[in-house]
Amino acid sequence: MKRILIIEDERSLVRFIQLELEHENFFVKVAYDGKSGLHVALTEEWDLILLDLMLPHLDGMEVCRRLREHKSTPVIMLTARDAINDRIQGLDSGADDYIPKPFDIDELFARIRAIFRRVELKERHVSSILSIRDITVDPDSRVVTRGGTPVDLTKREFDLLIVFLQHPNMVQTRDMLLDLVWGYDSMVETKIVDVYVRYLRYKLDVSGEESIIQTIRGIGYVVRT
Ligand code: CA
Repeated sequence: MKRILIIEDERSLVRFIQLELEHENFFVKVAYDGKSGLHVALTEEWDLILLDLMLPHLDGMEVCRRLREHKSTPVIMLTARDAINDRIQGLDSGADDYIPKPFDIDELFARIRAIFRRVELKERHVSSILSIRDITVDPDSRVVTRGGTPVDLTKREFDLLIVFLQHPNMVQTRDMLLDLVWGYDSMVETKIVDVYVRYLRYKLDVSGEESIIQTIRGIGYVVRT
């Protein structure tokens, strides 16, 4: 039985999600503020954490940041905010996905399933060094180098680069990248992909040379060998 921790102070919403999850045979525990939520997240093993952004005592972003110092438990952020910068910030604090409130329970289940699928894929994946041209990535140690020089990438930038390196010469649409790296497929959010491709180019490209990531206008991106 998979174990899900809900950290959310809106009791009616918690009750609703909890009943739905238990009905789907998940074990569910609830914390109603950030501080106690972080404690439960750190001291017990969870398959997934549903984490509200606006919480008493410690906000969701901070809970996620502190959790990430110790654990890689998948986190879905629940929040009423939907400005794109907040989304990027939420994801950069280490959340695996983000769902704006109010949400449809079926959409929440879809995202939960997507996360569990990604976790299983990762566990099955026998990692080995990936490389294209003079870029190498070690998925285990998460060390990235360009021309032998280490490049410091955030988790999301790293995941995006891995997708490109695993699919060289294949054009990746924004939707595909969003699904593979972020795990959701809403049209408005594809902008995030462009933002992160820019970050990657900034960190990986050598000035004066053609970018390692090529734009396929109107479609997406490709990394060619
Ligand atoms: Ca709240």
